[in-house]
Amino acid sequence: LHFRAEKRDGSWTRLARSIEQVASPRFSADLTAWASCDDGLRLASGARRSYSDVSTCSDARIIDMTRLDRFCGFDALTGLLTVDAGTNLDEILTHFVPRGFFLPVTPGTRFATLGGAVANDVHGKNHHRSGTIGCHVEAISLLRSDRGVIRLSAHSDPEMFAATIGGLGLTGIILDVTIRLQPIRSAWLDCETIVCPDLDRLIAALSGTQRNFEHGVAWIDCAARGKSLGRGIVSAANWCEDGDLLPHDAGQRVQIPTDRLGGLLNPLSIRAFNALYYALGSRRPARSRVHYAPFFYPLDAIGGWNKLYGRAGFYQYQCVIPTSGAAAGVRTLIEQISASGQGSFLAVLKSFGCKPSPGYLSFPRDGLTLALDFRNRGPETLALLDRLDETVLSSGGRLYPAKDARLPAPLFATGYPSLETFRPHVDPLITSDFWKRINCA
Ligand SMILES: Cc1cc2nc3c(=O)[nH]c(=O)nc-3n(C[C@H](O)[C@H](O)[C@H](O)COP(=O)(O)OP(=O)(O)OC[C@H]3O[C@@H](n4cnc5c(N)ncnc54)[C@H](O)[C@@H]3O)c2cc1C
Repeated sequence: LHFRAEKRDGSWTRLARSIEQVASPRFSADLTAWASCDDGLRLASGARRSYSDVSTCSDARIIDMTRLDRFCGFDALTGLLTVDAGTNLDEILTHFVPRGFFLPVTPGTRFATLGGAVANDVHGKNHHRSGTIGCHVEAISLLRSDRGVIRLSAHSDPEMFAATIGGLGLTGIILDVTIRLQPIRSAWLDCETIVCPDLDRLIAALSGTQRNFEHGVAWIDCAARGKSLGRGIVSAANWCEDGDLLPHDAGQRVQIPTDRLGGLLNPLSIRAFNALYYALGSRRPARSRVHYAPFFYPLDAIGGWNKLYGRAGFYQYQCVIPTSGAAAGVRTLIEQISASGQGSFLAVLKSFGCKPSPGYLSFPRDGLTLALDFRNRGPETLALLDRLDETVLSSGGRLYPAKDARLPAPLFATGYPSLETFRPHVDPLITSDFWKRINCA
């Protein structure tokens, strides 16, 4: 492999840039040949859509997987698709939506790779029905530095399979993934919009939609206070039975040209934006037909939206609070965020169902999950995130490593009781900035 020095954004949050040694193999055979004779530290990276340091490493060589993107096989009867791990979700959809298939679970961006999505065991808006993406993975080819290429499934090597799904790239390099796609009849969804004037009604509406809708998500006005605290808009949807099977038009993207707009984000503008969004949402029709692209991937329409937070970047914070204390825990978090004036326009609440996640380190568990961005204001932002951590800890919740660039090691250990079961499966030559951070404490 040819390694070159590259200055790259550490993650989607643009909190750090560093010079890395990167190779972008085009063929798995080149990668396996290199791996059999090189004994240096390494880490696979996908499309770098994670918000944390899970795919960066200052002292390992980075294998950029995005050019390993071939379709290897598809069975239209079973929906089983095998693709190279560097294939991005958009390529899969562009090819398979016209054939009547969709991803069984999708995150809020279609520009992640399938390997990266499996390594984080991502969730979508349908967790209450379908669980995480790992629930639909049939097999994985994994390149280990100590065992070469191994084929994993829930039946052959189930422990390594459970360690690799949601394993944050630490158990080996995923070469290809076999996943079961979901049949669809249309590229469109029937969507219901419910405007909720406070947090209690928002949570009630979100859980109420779970009975009748496959997909559900809520946007929260994280700047509202008093009686309106936690007001927001629930969107729930089911696939339409009719309509065309055309993928989105990727050409319609708006591009953010600069990172000099960060100063525009202040408590006043955040309040104004949230109030406006809520008011506009209140005027939306209660029922509408929406294409899958704006429903699942609204942010993908704005190229480089991560530059909106300015040169210092931003933090994302995503936690899950178990069902028993979910409403109270989320209320405390929203109170803390609203009082700080630091939230953003992208506060999202979802409900996780009871379907067990297949990975030892998978993030989802039953409860409510809150995700939002904070412009990086240095110590002020970090102090707020520390306060949020205390609420998550006292509610028995946990944070999502793919989203959190400063998740403290003790909170990670408490939130992930299978950490010690996972640890022996780590590839001896793989490490990441995240893993070093977790193990340094
Ligand atoms: C707008 C937006 C919305 C999002 N919405 C959601 C959401 O709804 N739900 C959710 O769960 N996540 C969400 N995410 C997060 C994102 O989907 C995940 O972080 C995803 O895993 C990123 O994939 P990637 O290809 O960019 O991987 P990277 O970020 O590059 O890497 C992620 C991890 O995967 C490992 N990895 C990558 N490729 C391989 C490989 N071939 N073999 C082994 N390890 C590998 C890396 O080492 C790293 O640990 C969102 C992100 C964005 C930007």
